[in-house]
Amino acid sequence: MNNKLYLISLGCPKTRVDSELMLGLLRNQGWTLTEEPEKADAILVSTCAFLQSSIEESIDTILEMADYKQGRCKNLVVAGCLPSRYEKEMDELKAALPEVDTFLTTFQLPDIIHAIQLSKAPQAVYPDPFLLRDLVDRQSFAYLKISEGCDRRCSFCAIPLIRGKQVSRPIDSLVTEARMLADKGVRELVLVAQELTHYGHDIGLEDGLLRLLDQLEPIPGIEWIRLMYTYPWNFTQPLIERIGQGKILPYVDIPLQHVSQHILDDMRRSVRQEKQDALLRRLREIPGIVLRTSLIAGYPGETEEDVDQLIQWIREIQFDRLGVFEYSPEPGTPAGERKDQLPDHVKAERRDRIMAAQQEIQAAKMAELIGRELDVLVDGVSPEHELVLQGRYYGQAPEGIDGQVYLSYENTLKEPAQIGDIVRVRVSDAREYDLLGDVLDDPDDASDIS
Ligand code: SF4
Repeated sequence: MNNKLYLISLGCPKTRVDSELMLGLLRNQGWTLTEEPEKADAILVSTCAFLQSSIEESIDTILEMADYKQGRCKNLVVAGCLPSRYEKEMDELKAALPEVDTFLTTFQLPDIIHAIQLSKAPQAVYPDPFLLRDLVDRQSFAYLKISEGCDRRCSFCAIPLIRGKQVSRPIDSLVTEARMLADKGVRELVLVAQELTHYGHDIGLEDGLLRLLDQLEPIPGIEWIRLMYTYPWNFTQPLIERIGQGKILPYVDIPLQHVSQHILDDMRRSVRQEKQDALLRRLREIPGIVLRTSLIAGYPGETEEDVDQLIQWIREIQFDRLGVFEYSPEPGTPAGERKDQLPDHVKAERRDRIMAAQQEIQAAKMAELIGRELDVLVDGVSPEHELVLQGRYYGQAPEGIDGQVYLSYENTLKEPAQIGDIVRVRVSDAREYDLLGDVLDDPDDASDIS
């Protein structure tokens, strides 16, 4: 009988890729997934430790999973950002969580093989985990993690402490992985990294992201390529000209964090507000471009004037998608050590005010889509209702980040579409983040993205 694994993956897409890599290695050793923790021989918790709230969520999940060790499960493994963040205090972490059998940092993921099999035999050569990567379910999309770590030192961010300096993966390895994902039915590649536009610098590549796109675009089966976590630095004109061409979706996720110059300086963002705006203007010229950003509200020293400036700016720029996070003081970061921290209620109120301004913009943009015809990539059956399919048009990143398009196949489709089909849809209604649509054609007839 196969050994059974129960897997929980917390946090961001980069953690999800780590989970899929470990899953691939274990499946290669004969392990299968179970959805019932009480039936698992081992439990793997892939953790996030980006913010204090994510650390708390990781610890709560570990403690919840530890209860299952009284039954069939004999092995609880905790991997990823939590052990990485506390690598120097590993003895304390082990003492605080004695239920955990093994901790694996983000640099030790291949060790999952003998960690979970409790084999003490050293494995001299591990297979390349990226080439064994396995998806939890059939998926229309997959994240492709093109580099790990970050060379920046933004004052609020714990990522460089957790994941170290940037290490880019070679193009050949990424292309092989992308082909394998396409063979499994993936139609959309979502490129992720801590700083996507910096890809390749550490391995001597000029214009690394463009070179990578040159190699990914021709892969048969891949229809859409989406760029997430692009930063204002290294955003070159040739890259701008490439976005919206061929399979590269006219969608840019560019986390900018703030607009007030003294806050940008305090955050060590090394960017001038005018340069940020000039870049946004150039991106806006791309036909059909959908712009996403994320901001921080309540950074130490932020004034009411800074918030007013931020709100006026988002009204001018008219971001299509926007996320606002309340500033969280992270131990070990320069901003986390500052004495002028703002009270939580002030941070929350500022966040709400910024989001309220964005909601007006968002509602108008969603209403503009009613009546339009769009190509929609089918992600699967909606968890809300078994007779409803859900998918996304190019302006919506996966996993509900930007909402969904809901398709009722009772009324619209002669034959239900399958995961990974791209169907032509007329938008019939819009909600705050989601769209409702009628499918127009047979799945194979659709080809454009706009
Ligand atoms: S670029 Fe991103 S990951 Fe790197 S330090 Fe800044 S916020 Fe953190």
